[in-house]
Amino acid sequence: MKNIKNYSLEELKQELISLGEKPYRASQIWEWLYKEKVKNIDDMSNLSLDLREKLKQNYTMCNFNILKKQESSDGTIKYLFDVLDGNAIETVLMEYYHGKTICVSSQIGCKMGCKFCASTGIAFVRNLSAGEIVEQILAVEQDIGQDISNIVFMGIGEPFDNYENVMKAIKILNDPKGLNIGARHISVSTSGIVPKIYDFANEPFQCTLSISLHATNNEKRSKMMPVNDAYPIEELLKACKYYIQKTNKRISFEYALAKDNNDNMQDAKELVKLLKGMLCHVNLIPINKIQNGSFVKSSNENIIKFRDYLNDNGIVATIRRELGSDIDAACGQLRRKNL
Ligand code: SAH
Repeated sequence: MKNIKNYSLEELKQELISLGEKPYRASQIWEWLYKEKVKNIDDMSNLSLDLREKLKQNYTMCNFNILKKQESSDGTIKYLFDVLDGNAIETVLMEYYHGKTICVSSQIGCKMGCKFCASTGIAFVRNLSAGEIVEQILAVEQDIGQDISNIVFMGIGEPFDNYENVMKAIKILNDPKGLNIGARHISVSTSGIVPKIYDFANEPFQCTLSISLHATNNEKRSKMMPVNDAYPIEELLKACKYYIQKTNKRISFEYALAKDNNDNMQDAKELVKLLKGMLCHVNLIPINKIQNGSFVKSSNENIIKFRDYLNDNGIVATIRRELGSDIDAACGQLRRKNL
């Protein structure tokens, strides 16, 4: 059976036409799904019983079950959802500067192999569908009884390795008739799949783009992130410049600071040189410890020194607040779970 949350409004209209129904029914169904947020097709009370039956025969609602819910002392909540095919995914709810933010996963597992990330090292299973991405938000909203206004694609997976489904999910999230979450409130983070950065620049909606940079030269970056072998820093930054020129939007560069690896003043100097003049912002992340990981967090003192150097030299930099590390919900700590 097909997941009814997998369709853009246009596509759902086509689905209804193929069922011999009027296309405006799609708008009614969307209202039930994304405004009323019902859990059952039977609750769509302005649809005829006949149509409800037809829908039930053809589609599932794909309501995730919560397998586990862990709450951090800082209020961050990590959910483990049963995605109904024997797999489970993690989604994190955080209290961020501007309210509640959901960090969604885009894949079951990840192929990128970043050396400092817990999502690495466990076999990749499959992409999440658009509906499964959207359902993460609906399931969290239902659990807390509150709407969420900020989404970050920073959970498990590489969003640009599942480009089509992630773009469709954004369309559903962003559509005024869908969840109506402003593009400015949606951030997508990539390890740097260059061709997709060009595609993203040409999309009609303008979400925030974050780039996981983490190092300032190819030798160092390749040691941390194998994707750098395919798309080295020069190509990555060229794509970023295209994105900025095309969208006039600021890029956020993520830089996870690891002691004696990429956190000395020489690195800071090189980072300034690389990014000087670009419409960008640097998000410094104190690297989070992972099981069997060899990277150690920089000292607070050093992180502040690094930030100040960037700020003093014309690069706007902030330090990302560490949330949920006591429940392994912080950046890079999510891993694929078996049921
Ligand atoms: N695949 C995407 C999104 C996933 S992770 C990407 O690579 O951007 C979101 C952010 O957390 C990325 O910047 C990632 O590099 C960072 N991250 C991964 N492991 C981390 C760790 N152990 N400590 C701090 N940040 C980490």
